[in-house]
Amino acid sequence: MDFAIPERVRSIRQIVREFMQKEIYPLELSLRARPFRELLPALAEKRAKARQTGLFAPHIPEALGGGGLSLSEFAHMSEELGRSPIGHYVFNCQAPDVGNMEILMEHATAEQKERWLLPLVRGEIRSCFTMTEPEFPGSNPTWMGTTARKEGESWIINGQKWFATAVEGAAFAICMAVTAPEAPSPYSRATMIIVPTGTPGFELVRNISVMGDKGSDYASHAEVSYQSCRVPVVNTLGAEGMGFVIAQDRLGPGRIHHCMRWIGICERAFELMCDRAAKRELAPGKPLGTRQIVQQWIAESRAEIHGARLMVLHAAWKIDNEGAYAAREEISLIKFTVANVLQRVLDRAVQVHGALGVTDDTPLAYWYAHERAARIYDGADEVHKTVVARRILREHGLKISSSP
Ligand SMILES: Cc1cc2nc3c(=O)[nH]c(=O)nc-3n(C[C@H](O)[C@H](O)[C@H](O)COP(=O)(O)OP(=O)(O)OC[C@H]3O[C@@H](n4cnc5c(N)ncnc54)[C@H](O)[C@@H]3O)c2cc1C
Repeated sequence: MDFAIPERVRSIRQIVREFMQKEIYPLELSLRARPFRELLPALAEKRAKARQTGLFAPHIPEALGGGGLSLSEFAHMSEELGRSPIGHYVFNCQAPDVGNMEILMEHATAEQKERWLLPLVRGEIRSCFTMTEPEFPGSNPTWMGTTARKEGESWIINGQKWFATAVEGAAFAICMAVTAPEAPSPYSRATMIIVPTGTPGFELVRNISVMGDKGSDYASHAEVSYQSCRVPVVNTLGAEGMGFVIAQDRLGPGRIHHCMRWIGICERAFELMCDRAAKRELAPGKPLGTRQIVQQWIAESRAEIHGARLMVLHAAWKIDNEGAYAAREEISLIKFTVANVLQRVLDRAVQVHGALGVTDDTPLAYWYAHERAARIYDGADEVHKTVVARRILREHGLKISSSP
């Protein structure tokens, strides 16, 4: 087993690290002081510079205009980018576009790739993903209310979605809708359909206020309504009835991206915590770091981050070498483990900073509010734990179904 980080990855990390220091960290304070949309001109400049590194859309093959990194290589880069809330956006590998690019690459027709994937890779447009619904549990994606029925050469879509990230400003949505309600398997009832957001019947109802922040443009989560929304059948993404399978394809690598981004956040929070502990004096000559409880938080955080990173890199290696299906248990394990390491490290870092920790003078408060959701999206903790435990218990002879 070789734990050495390859030279190519080390040089990518170095390029990104320097870029972050020079171009990204200085913008962070404005991010927290102003709506995201007001930052777009400054961010466009940074994106132009990011393109020059050859690492724009790093996870996409070079032939399609991306950086050509493997999942394991991208995992390392994602950690570096995760150190700032805007790192992934500047390098065009932010959710939900990152996952949408991956499924378009895998399942889109040549015409769909030309129209949607390539402009997405070039960063000329953005997209969103509308699957979760207010009236149905997102934890059971085989059960949803949105339908699409065929009328001639069109799909007519009806339904309500919510918590769709980055709808404002997106050029198209990928919509998950039930197209075969009578199909015997619940896993083959839904289809993914590409919907240009300008289509009559597609409506952004509202940006949802999340932890006191309504957000804007890319940094928002919206409620969306489809009302007799008509799109051509040629906008079907992949085969009819394959929606659930494609959604699973999207989530495998997606969890590596999220987990490594969270490890980047942990590392930055950890550095801030250690720096504060070393410099903030409780009394003359007595910095916080002399207290045993602070030392314990530092040691525990170091161990947890280190363990989390090794788990994620192993899962990425397994996906690269054996495919996402073979790595499904590792993917579930990292999803809930790293999301919880993130909560603990952030909480300790805020605590060590005292009142400063809840101000917007550091990125800690932003992450503390916005990353609580890490334990919910892409499968809540409990769902992943149930999946893993059931599989193990089945090996021990327990008869238990896989339904929710
Ligand atoms: C910040 C953020 C961004 C998001 N972005 C998108 C997006 O771009 N597109 C999109 O379609 N969706 C998005 N989502 C939605 C997300 O995928 C869902 O919130 C998630 O799947 C959970 O579904 P739910 O909210 O309906 O919770 P529910 O399914 O109602 O579950 C509620 C709670 O029940 C518990 N629970 C669920 N199942 C089980 C079980 N089997 N055993 C024990 N307990 C269980 C869990 O604690 C869970 O948190 C986003 C969500 C957030 C918070």
